[in-house]
Amino acid sequence: MQFSDLQLNKPILKAITESNYQNPTQVQVKTIPLVLEKRDIIVSAQTGTGKTAAFALPILQQLFDKQDASKKGKKIRALVVCPTRELALQINNNFKTYGKYTNLRTTVVYGGASIDPQKEILRKGVDILIATPGRLLDLHKQDVVNLGFVETLVLDEADMMLDMGFIDDIKKIERLCPVNKQTLLFSATIPFKVRQLAESSLNNPVKVEVSPTSSAAKNVDQALYYVPKPNKIELCLHLLRNEIKGTILIFRRTKYGVDKLEKTLLKNNYYCVSIHGDKTQVTREESLQKFKNKEVDILIATDVAARGIDISNLDAVINFDIPNIPESYVHRIGRTGRAGELGKAYSFCSADEKTYIATIQKLINTEIFVIEDHPYPLDPKAKPEVHKKKGSKYKKGRKSESSKKKKKRWY
Ligand code: AMP
Repeated sequence: MQFSDLQLNKPILKAITESNYQNPTQVQVKTIPLVLEKRDIIVSAQTGTGKTAAFALPILQQLFDKQDASKKGKKIRALVVCPTRELALQINNNFKTYGKYTNLRTTVVYGGASIDPQKEILRKGVDILIATPGRLLDLHKQDVVNLGFVETLVLDEADMMLDMGFIDDIKKIERLCPVNKQTLLFSATIPFKVRQLAESSLNNPVKVEVSPTSSAAKNVDQALYYVPKPNKIELCLHLLRNEIKGTILIFRRTKYGVDKLEKTLLKNNYYCVSIHGDKTQVTREESLQKFKNKEVDILIATDVAARGIDISNLDAVINFDIPNIPESYVHRIGRTGRAGELGKAYSFCSADEKTYIATIQKLINTEIFVIEDHPYPLDPKAKPEVHKKKGSKYKKGRKSESSKKKKKRWY
């Protein structure tokens, strides 16, 4: 299958050729014709599959085919909603690249940045708007955004938007768009709440599935280290000194964990950067840019911060903490591996994370190779650490009157 078989217009094909894309990816082959047929779709595809182009190209095509003559009266005809600012910026860049030879106008709005310049651009009129939910609703409240002409609504990384608590915002946005719009839902995973959203918001959708997650892990050389939790940092330093080289993405489950590891690595003279939700927009963008430009070799991130961001072709991924959602493991390690070469993934598992490994192995249908020969082995009989809350000794056994009242009886 070639791009020219997908019935795309010349200006779009020209931009694709300039991007050096040889052939459409699997998700593009499956999705583009359906979007052009105006169907609603649910696509389960993860980052790196080319999913952005899978919706951007046919949207550009449709809007290009029936363009508004005047620039002044431009109305938002395509709306892409996604969970994070970084992802919004990235999608905007993709639309700009693919729409280079059309005169369609695209812009992006997201929170954490000054609202006035965003208002200014919107007032001038755009065809395509990429937005994070909160800022979009803010702008709508201020009467700068009219969603009454939206023909295609894209919900990107839907599972993550729901995880982040955006469900009400998404439903509100959906209702602000015309009833007969086309809706395209993209999600790395399709858990129950995404299915529920699809049922309430989509019209007879076609389901598209791209490379089941279990097969994605087959191109990665995976190593598992059982290690006591307090020794994970030593193991990490040991591997960085002796084995893991090149560009490395380290995942931690919490923002606190990311900060702590960053401090330790910096103290040990490893130049690294980090991204997570509590960092400012500017810092996150700077860090990502440094990593992408190869000014730094190590990026530390939470799953949420790294989701959807186009960082691939890494030399190694380290799962400093084992993810509690098995799909996250597959997404994380899918970012490693340069063209034609096996990627490398290192996972550090402490006693309390063993159950996560079991569910991951079930999902990928493979037993991850265990490295026993390392300086910080975990005693196989080690029990998970239980963290007891250190409350005040004076409060022991005493409850406030209000908490007693709140207590639910079994009956
Ligand atoms: P995405 O899954 O949308 O984040 O895309 C991942 C990467 O694949 C991006 O860097 C795209 O530029 C690239 N890409 C998208 N479509 C193609 C294609 N047909 N051929 C080669 N690269 C592509």
